[in-house]
Amino acid sequence: MSLSLQFLGAVGGVTGSNFLARTDTQAFLIDCGLFQGNSQNRAHNDEPFAYDPKEIDFLILTHAHLDHCGLIPKLYHQGFRGKIYCTPATAELAKEILSDSAHIREHGANELQIEALFSYQDTLDAFKLFKTYNYNQPFKDGEIKICLQDAGHILGSAMVEVWASGKKLVFTGDLGNSPVPILRDPTKILEADYVVSESTYGSRLHEAVDLRSKKLVTAIEYAQRHKAKIIIPSFALERTQDLLYILNQLKNQKKFTNLPVFLDSPLAGRITAIYKKYTPLFDEEFQKQLKSDPDLFSFKGFKETATRTESMALNDLVGPAIYIAGSGMADAGRVQHHILHQGNNPNNQIIFVGFQVPGTLGRKLVDGLTRVRVMDHFITVKAKIGSINAFSAHADQKGVLNWLNNFKTQPTVFLVHGEQKSREILAEKITKQLKLKAILPKLKQTIDL
Ligand SMILES: [Zn+2]
Repeated sequence: MSLSLQFLGAVGGVTGSNFLARTDTQAFLIDCGLFQGNSQNRAHNDEPFAYDPKEIDFLILTHAHLDHCGLIPKLYHQGFRGKIYCTPATAELAKEILSDSAHIREHGANELQIEALFSYQDTLDAFKLFKTYNYNQPFKDGEIKICLQDAGHILGSAMVEVWASGKKLVFTGDLGNSPVPILRDPTKILEADYVVSESTYGSRLHEAVDLRSKKLVTAIEYAQRHKAKIIIPSFALERTQDLLYILNQLKNQKKFTNLPVFLDSPLAGRITAIYKKYTPLFDEEFQKQLKSDPDLFSFKGFKETATRTESMALNDLVGPAIYIAGSGMADAGRVQHHILHQGNNPNNQIIFVGFQVPGTLGRKLVDGLTRVRVMDHFITVKAKIGSINAFSAHADQKGVLNWLNNFKTQPTVFLVHGEQKSREILAEKITKQLKLKAILPKLKQTIDL
């Protein structure tokens, strides 16, 4: 009984997750994500798949981030008709994320330049392939047994346990940062022969979690003193809900008053509505707070700007305010308008709350570049640039090591989904501290297990 694994994306980088496993009789994928970031990365989206999508029996989707699900419509377009297994929340979120991505592309405002790869209809048709299972509910496809476990990364995110050809594989997908607000900790898994683990922050440790609220409060106080704006480029999925949850908490604790908060992202609004549907999946602290506050994502002074006109009106708003808008790396979306209009005021603050992929506007600003291109204008950004890394939805080095340390077996660990340096440093720690074999696969490499 043979089993092989081919690494087709998120290898030495953090986007384009796509892994192909083959047994004697079946072939299946874990994730089918979009490559993002600089043009060299994005060019991978145009390359033909390394396999014939018609011959793939099924796809397991770990979670709804675009770098994990973004090429599903292309897969459909090229003939894939197998099931897409994921959790119910992931299916709902992926539909929002993929429709939005297809919609933006149809309106030509997208820098991804992959319009020829599939149509909007392919996106809608691909949704019919979703087949959902809850966490810890094992199921079979042919000879292969599968079980999804809570990865604690975003709503619905799963780690995948796969039993095939007499071996057990575990794919972490993106591993959550414990203890993040809202989500439960990643489930401990005790046995595996092979683990395919992410390594996004493999070389780094996150800030202490309480810095999250502290830094926000400091930024808010500064904005109030200077009657200035805080612009938070935020991912519509997860990060925005984290932010709203914490701002709601700060508001309940009376850490700030009279500061309007605008969510300038209709997509983030729709996703927040899905979060509100799935509150039983959230952690104990969330359940506790829910008893005294029935809506933990909304508070007095919070507004959503539904239309473009409402969004534009924010340009003329006088006084301190927080604008939360997409995209999270500031390379598209309404946040670009705000950077264009508010970026030249040295009292304003632009605060990044997530990982910035090299090549994006966000990464340039975080790296200290001030002369940047925003919506076809070259501007000098004078606003203060800040980051709150404690918001990360990814485990840091310690987080991955602690999670791997739960295994009672001695799995071989393949490190993916991290820049080369990150995974090299993490590999060394895994070998030295955990005495496990760590392998850094190359792009397109096939390994027989
Ligand atoms: Zn993710």
